[in-house]
Amino acid sequence: MTAILTTVANGKVVYFHYTLTNPEGEVLDQSEAETPLAYLHGAGNIVPGLETALLGRHVGDEFVAIVSPEEGYGEHDGEEPQEVPRDAFPDDMELEPGMPVFGETPDGDHVALWVVEVDDETVKLDANHPLAGVTLHFKVKITEVREATEEEQAHGHPHGIGGAGHDEDDGWDDEEELEDEDFEDEDEDEDGEEDVGEDETPRDN
Ligand code: ZN
Repeated sequence: MTAILTTVANGKVVYFHYTLTNPEGEVLDQSEAETPLAYLHGAGNIVPGLETALLGRHVGDEFVAIVSPEEGYGEHDGEEPQEVPRDAFPDDMELEPGMPVFGETPDGDHVALWVVEVDDETVKLDANHPLAGVTLHFKVKITEVREATEEEQAHGHPHGIGGAGHDEDDGWDDEEELEDEDFEDEDEDEDGEEDVGEDETPRDN
């Protein structure tokens, strides 16, 4: 009788444990033993293929979802990672392989790049998600389904255990936090000198 209340659908916060492997069976990621992952269904918090696979499931369901790169982290575009100077980033910004950083294109589009390698001088950045091109095997067990609060709906992500911490470093808000940091400011002058207008016509001669 209560099945409808515990069925995954838009506007529900869903808690699940998962183990993510590649087709070779290597474990790539998994939920923590005590803390299932929480997401707001329909809000794009998780990769599309997994969200689709969860729709209509119930608390207690266990299943394996096989997600194509297209429905996962995208195809690999074949581009090699690019190197940028370490000092393009704030000194106190921790940079670790596998972590995303966010920048802006000249058109003002926000783009994510992934750190591949870091040393004192250089950061190697890849436009491909580390799991681009990988067919994802998710072993899933749903532990809880509940209605999202109005605030969660408005934010587009769940709050509380397993959800967005807002003050923590492990929630859905990583992107916003990073965007608030200085990466985008790299175009601004730190040295107070005026930019020589690269786009302007040179006036010598
Ligand atoms: Zn929030």
